[in-house]
Amino acid sequence: MKIDKFLTPYRIESGKHFRLKDHDPADTHGLKSEFKKEASELLAKGVQRLSVLQDILAAQDRWGLLLIFQAMDAAGKDGTIKHVMSGVNPQGVSVHSFKAPSSEELDHDFLWRTMKCVPERGHIGIFNRSYYEEVLVVRVHREILANEKLPKSLVTRQIWRERFEDINNFERYLTRNGIAILKFFLHVSKKEQKRRFMERLDKVDKNWKFSAADVRERQFWADYQDSYEDMIGHTASKHAPWYVVPADNKWFTRMVVAAAVVHSLETMDLKYPKVNAEQKAELEKARTQLKAE
Ligand code: ATP
Ligand code: MG
Repeated sequence: MKIDKFLTPYRIESGKHFRLKDHDPADTHGLKSEFKKEASELLAKGVQRLSVLQDILAAQDRWGLLLIFQAMDAAGKDGTIKHVMSGVNPQGVSVHSFKAPSSEELDHDFLWRTMKCVPERGHIGIFNRSYYEEVLVVRVHREILANEKLPKSLVTRQIWRERFEDINNFERYLTRNGIAILKFFLHVSKKEQKRRFMERLDKVDKNWKFSAADVRERQFWADYQDSYEDMIGHTASKHAPWYVVPADNKWFTRMVVAAAVVHSLETMDLKYPKVNAEQKAELEKARTQLKAE
C-alpha cells in the first residue's frame, strides 16, 4: 500500500490531462539530500526483493515483464538500468539498446525490430530506447521520416496519431498475452543536462561519454519536450502505464524505478509452481534411491 502511494504521483495511467510542466525534474517527494544514504539502503533492499521476485517469475513461467526506458541524453538511463538490475540473475534478463535503424530494419515496419526482442515468459526484458523513438526523434527531425521508405500516400498529417494508435494496440496485445509493460521517462531538466555534459568534458574518466551529437540534439530541447508530452498523453494506459521519473537527482530516480518494478511484480501474484501427488511420489522415489547408494 505504502509503495503504491509513493508511486502514485509519478505513474500516468491516463494521458487525458497530462502536462509535462506539472512534473518537476528536481522533485524528491519531499526527501532532503540528507536522505541519500537511506535511499541507497532502500534501493539495496529493493534490489534484493527484485531478485527474489525474479526467481519466482522464472519458476512460474507465466508472466514476462518488459521495461521501457526513454529519456533525453544524460538523464541517467544507463546508470539506472545498471543499479536497479544489479541483483537479478543475468540468465533471466536481457537488455536491448535501440539506435538509429539499419538498412535491413528500414526495410520493415517500425515495430519489427523491437518485436523480436520482447521478453519470453519468466523473463525481464529491458528496452534502452524503443519504438517510442518513432514518435520522438523521428518527429523532431522530419528528414528521418522521409528516409523510412514509406509509400508516399501513407505519410499524412495523421501519422503521429496513427503511430500512437499502433503502439497502443501492440501494447494491449502484449499485455493480453501475459507480458506486463512498464514505461519510464527519466525527466531531467535542461539545466541539469548541461551540468552533466560539462562534467563529461571536465572529468577525464567521463570524457568517453561525451558526444558532440548530444549537444546538437540539446538545441531541439523544446521540440523534444513537446513530443514527449504528446507521446505520454496518447500512450499512457492502465495496462501499460508511463512513469514520469524526476531525474535531476540520480539517487531518487533509481529509488522510483526500483519501487515501480518491485510493485509491478508484487501485484502479479507470483507463486512457485506446486508439485502434484504424482510428482511428489517421484521425489520420494528419488530420495529412497539416493539414500540406498
Ligand atoms: P548512450 O549515449 O548512453 O550510449 P544512447 O541511447 O543515447 O546511449 P546513442 O548511440 O548515443 O545511444 O544514441 C542512439 C541514437 O539513436 C539516439 O540519438 C536516438 O534518437 C537514435 N534512434 C533510436 N531509435 C531511432 C529510430 N527508430 N529512428 C531514428 N533514430 C533513432
Ligand atoms: Mg547518446
